[in-house]
Amino acid sequence: MTREFHASAGAQLRAARRIVVKVGSAILCGDGDDGTVRASWLSSLADDIAQLRRAWREAVVVTSGAIALGRGRLGLARGPLKLEEKQAASAAGQIALAEAWGAAFAAHGVTVAQILLTLDDTEHRRRYLNARAAMRALLDLGAMPLVNENDAVTTEEIRYGDNDRLAAHAAQIVGADLLVILSDVDGLYTADPRRDPSAAHLPLVEAITPDIEASAAGPNLSAGVGSGGMESKLAAAKIAGGAGCAAIIAPGHGDNPLSAVLDGGKATLFRAAKTRESARRQWIAGRLKPAGTIVIDDGAAKALGAGKSLLPAGVVGVRGDFARGDAVAVENAKGEVLAQGLSAYHADEIRRIAGRRSDEIEPLLGYRRRPAVIEKNDLVLRMS
Ligand code: GLU
Repeated sequence: MTREFHASAGAQLRAARRIVVKVGSAILCGDGDDGTVRASWLSSLADDIAQLRRAWREAVVVTSGAIALGRGRLGLARGPLKLEEKQAASAAGQIALAEAWGAAFAAHGVTVAQILLTLDDTEHRRRYLNARAAMRALLDLGAMPLVNENDAVTTEEIRYGDNDRLAAHAAQIVGADLLVILSDVDGLYTADPRRDPSAAHLPLVEAITPDIEASAAGPNLSAGVGSGGMESKLAAAKIAGGAGCAAIIAPGHGDNPLSAVLDGGKATLFRAAKTRESARRQWIAGRLKPAGTIVIDDGAAKALGAGKSLLPAGVVGVRGDFARGDAVAVENAKGEVLAQGLSAYHADEIRRIAGRRSDEIEPLLGYRRRPAVIEKNDLVLRMS
């Protein structure tokens, strides 16, 4: 699928269907570490997001602020925190954070649902699929996923470290077409605008080249409360772009920050590098070693060639011991590899439902699951 591309941040936001909005600690909590959020600002953002939702857009929010809120609540002094203090602060602050967002959206009758991710949830395919299923279910149910890193149980080695990257991964997980990073900067400049008066604002970045990356280097532009600077925002735009998702860096401090973007306010739009499907195909085809093999009949092979999902009816054999979400090879009876995909079932489950119709899955297994053994979106044909 090729995605529509618009040359300005406002037009791209207007056209986006599924949007991830990332909110940094500095704009949500202000400068103080007093354990409070900027409630009227938050309610103005909730108004903006609710308006998008009324126009049939889906929204996911990735919010920072747990540590900033928690340190105030626990009475921790300003300055660097030890790992266990950060964990404690996030545990205390996350509740306050979720309450604040919940209250802001309750005013619009929107149910906010908290998802706390760890790095493993996006790096391991099975966990990634799990997170994806949960987030998609929430969107289907009309709720608004509210995502943060599960800082209470992460350590320096096993964390995203900043919510910009986390937000990009969230965008990838839900298949968003736009990531909006709201922060205390109004976009990318050719150099650090605080040091170099000749620095020019870039409204549109077609590709993240080494030159562009060099312009983002330097001190943390959101020094103080949050942890991500321009470098991490650029990294996020890159990850999102690779997943076919455009990105916008926009100033978030003022009220109704999304309306401001829609109205043509200053921001930087990053064009997505690829369509979502091709990024996904790379993920499936390139990065994973098949954990087993599913052998299919000619009818199923034909269906796969026509872009269909693999149904249990066409399965004639299974080799290996793989779990749900593992990458598997798909072969015909002659042993030719036709495709690679992510299995929606454990190998033993497929052995039990092979050759059967999808409506027999529930009586055979005793529980209800997806009708396809491999969903078409999780399948990459070998020859394609
Ligand atoms: N996850 C952290 C928090 O909620 C924020 C990380 C960041 O500032 O990017 O406090």
